[in-house]
Amino acid sequence: MPPRRIGDADSDSDVSILDDFDGVGRGKGKGKGKAIDRRVKDKGKGKAKEQPYAWEAAYTRSWDTVQEDEAGSLQGAVQELIARGRRRRLLAPASAIRRTIIRHLILVIDLSSSMMDRDMRPTRFDLMLQYAREFIIEWFDQNPLGQIGIVGMRSGLGERIGEMTGNPQEVLKAISERHKLEPGGEPSLQNAIDMARSSMSHLPVHSSREITIIFGSLTTCDPGNIHDTLEDCIKDRIRISIVALAAEMKICRDLCDKTGGQFGVALNEGHFKDLLFELIPPPVARALARTGGAPANPAADLMIMGFPTRLPDTSPPGLCVCHSKLKSEGFLCPRCRAKVCDVPTDCDICGLMIVSSPHLARSYHHLFPVKAYQAVISLEDTPNPAPSCHGCSTAFREAAPAMANTSDGMSPLGRYRCPDCHNDFCTDCDVFVHDVVHCCPGCGK
Ligand SMILES: [Zn+2]
Ligand SMILES: [Zn+2]
Ligand SMILES: [Zn+2]
Ligand SMILES: [Zn+2]
Repeated sequence: MPPRRIGDADSDSDVSILDDFDGVGRGKGKGKGKAIDRRVKDKGKGKAKEQPYAWEAAYTRSWDTVQEDEAGSLQGAVQELIARGRRRRLLAPASAIRRTIIRHLILVIDLSSSMMDRDMRPTRFDLMLQYAREFIIEWFDQNPLGQIGIVGMRSGLGERIGEMTGNPQEVLKAISERHKLEPGGEPSLQNAIDMARSSMSHLPVHSSREITIIFGSLTTCDPGNIHDTLEDCIKDRIRISIVALAAEMKICRDLCDKTGGQFGVALNEGHFKDLLFELIPPPVARALARTGGAPANPAADLMIMGFPTRLPDTSPPGLCVCHSKLKSEGFLCPRCRAKVCDVPTDCDICGLMIVSSPHLARSYHHLFPVKAYQAVISLEDTPNPAPSCHGCSTAFREAAPAMANTSDGMSPLGRYRCPDCHNDFCTDCDVFVHDVVHCCPGCGK
């Protein structure tokens, strides 16, 4: 793919930007860089004639690291790049860290005219809606005690698209009607963040407050000083994460860094999804109190939760307290006997948090993650190495390829060993066990 250059005709850009603007500050050099020699491209432009941009220095030249295998195929090298990216996530500390399992997230979606750009197929807007749907489903699957609300940025305003709710269907419904979300005008980060912040101000201290922004524009049109909003977010302990679709903006980077969120610029469609899905696992609870804010990380207080009574479909109809609808099915709050439509939720009458026990159980695995598998570098000290993966029985490579690279916790043999049961697993099983199963098939831990 040739580098994508945002040209002069593009309304929201007056700089030349290559596809891989991402590398700044990430330091990792994803190895996906497609930075073609700029000297060739820049002739006639007169700017930065021989001097590459500073951010380019952060890049490893991927065409130097990618090498063909014996058969002249690049497939192995490409697969290794993908595996490396996935594994990076798994290398996070596997010890028992404190995580927030009761999450509150406002998903802010950019509905400005820049979302109609076709650099991502079919358009940024359609792709965003599609990934947002997948994100919401996966998010609720992994965070059954969480709640999501949706805010849009359009015509310089923040627009409340979906109220904060713990019901995935309602969140999905909020973004299902495409014609109501038609992009237009300028985005306003400040208005959107203020709106998101106000809808989370009532939340208790034990829950996380997060804002995830999908941002396709290179401008923001704000009524006031956005740095004040940033200060307010820090004070309220709101974590802001941004997935940018165009390029890095200083204010976006600041918003994320100062609030403890993640920032990333999507290189292409797949990377966009990766960045978004990296935000699904619950964040680590912050240990340090920030000055001036509410007391961070309070001692592990007990919190009150109620297990509701489920009403059978045949029960006499009654009005629910959440929508004032007449229906037979629903749940009864154990404290005030009010009828609510869905769990988990906070009771509208008495404020009790109502959860069901499967929700609690499903949140549990985040607290006791499967230990990270160790990459097997050589088989010298293994007397009888297993010929195939313990998970899926795929045969392992006999010997490491010549250009094998053992950095970043990659195994040249494609073997990853459980520290407890010492079974070997392939890359795919490694990812599957840690992302989906949450239990080692070898030892059951
Ligand atoms: Zn209701
Ligand atoms: Zn109640
Ligand atoms: Zn396997
Ligand atoms: Zn094991």
